[in-house]
Amino acid sequence: MPRAAGRAELVESRIGECGCPEEHYLFDGIDLIIHFEPNGDVDAFWDTGDDCADWTTHEGQSRFNGRLAAFAWAASLTGGAER
Ligand SMILES: [Zn+2]
Repeated sequence: MPRAAGRAELVESRIGECGCPEEHYLFDGIDLIIHFEPNGDVDAFWDTGDDCADWTTHEGQSRFNGRLAAFAWAASLTGGAER
């Protein structure tokens, strides 16, 4: 797996409230939820407790690519860039 800037640990794989698969990671110690829509969109939610952000990519033709894009996004947040 290409390395993102941060470190991701899978906490849980589950089915979200709308029926889509979801993965909960700790990304550099911060909660990161990656949500896989049936149309290939990938939503990511990042929550430090004090601050939260969400983001969507349409590049999730494969779950693998969507996951990498979400990690890259989270890395840009934890790196303090473009908030
Ligand atoms: Zn959904």
